[in-house]
Amino acid sequence: MHAVTLIKGDGIGPSIMDEAVKVINASGAKIQWEDAYAGLSAFEKFGNPLPDATMESIDKTRVAFKGPLTTVVGTGFRSINVALRQKYELYANVRPATNWEGVKTRYDDVDIVIVRENTEGLYSGLEHYLTSKKDIAESLAVVTRSGSQRVIEYAFKYARDNNRKKVTVCHKANILKYTQGIFLDVARETAARYPDIQFDEKIVDAACMHMVMNPQQFDVVVTTNMFGDILSDLTAGLVGGLGLIPGANIGDDAALFEAVHGSAPDIAGKNLANPAAVIMAGVMMLNHLGEFEAAKRIKLAIEKVVREGKYVTPDLNLQSTCGTKEMGDAIVAAMG
Ligand code: ATP
Ligand code: MG
Repeated sequence: MHAVTLIKGDGIGPSIMDEAVKVINASGAKIQWEDAYAGLSAFEKFGNPLPDATMESIDKTRVAFKGPLTTVVGTGFRSINVALRQKYELYANVRPATNWEGVKTRYDDVDIVIVRENTEGLYSGLEHYLTSKKDIAESLAVVTRSGSQRVIEYAFKYARDNNRKKVTVCHKANILKYTQGIFLDVARETAARYPDIQFDEKIVDAACMHMVMNPQQFDVVVTTNMFGDILSDLTAGLVGGLGLIPGANIGDDAALFEAVHGSAPDIAGKNLANPAAVIMAGVMMLNHLGEFEAAKRIKLAIEKVVREGKYVTPDLNLQSTCGTKEMGDAIVAAMG
């Protein structure tokens, strides 16, 4: 049995997480779920968006499966997601974007893994006004050599372990010479230690253009926090949208799995949200736990359902009247 902290989250969170748990339970994986709360639901229940009990659970399980969270303004947190990533030093945010059979997109053969630095950069939380009139504000991007090293090393090791050929570092060291400069230097040093992996460097603005014009040239991409946030939504757009992209937040002694998308308040409570992204995050979690068979079963089942295009939510097929729950049921049925 693997104990996993389960945080269903806010907005569309509970509905998509219910489907993900249903699918994972049906896959044969041996998971013992520990319910915990964070975000708006935790604030409403306990008056605290990040209760001690939640952290005690993660301290113990070291693995969390989480829906999207809404951060309540005025609770001392800028973002609960960022707080969790920083507390558990989940320094590598891995976001794979791959074409799906049955999802019509502009390009075929897109298979990009973004590895986003997840604990520093512009997300360090150092932002303030410089004047009492609040007409000048300042944000500090903190980049450390050690913080860069651990995520870049992770990206190269990931490439090697997953039979990938190339790592591209996306940066802006031509303008941000020190912060981005450290990141680029470390990437070059690390690349020299991985002669079997091709290395490329691109300035982030040019990388955006290349990604939109010729995405097949990208394989593993490693980048700083804010650029990774933006580039991963771009890659989501290349393969069919946010409803399909999972994310793994990896540290040395804890990991948290979630969808890349947020709580999507516009479609919450309408049975419209696509559960595929969190279910694929569940697949990443099962692989992390060594439940390879169960992970494979779920992946094949969800691919079949998406390929057939009947029981998919409207973001994948505008004519579809299938809801979140029906799509989850179809995935369970497809596992046979
Ligand atoms: P948050 O503030 O929590 O990030 P958001 O309004 O930015 O929420 P996102 O979840 O980031 O919303 O997504 C942006 C849009 O993409 C949503 O408004 C929604 O229409 C769409 N979207 C996101 N996730 C899904 C999903 N799982 N299924 C279908 N559509 C989705
Ligand atoms: Mg968002």
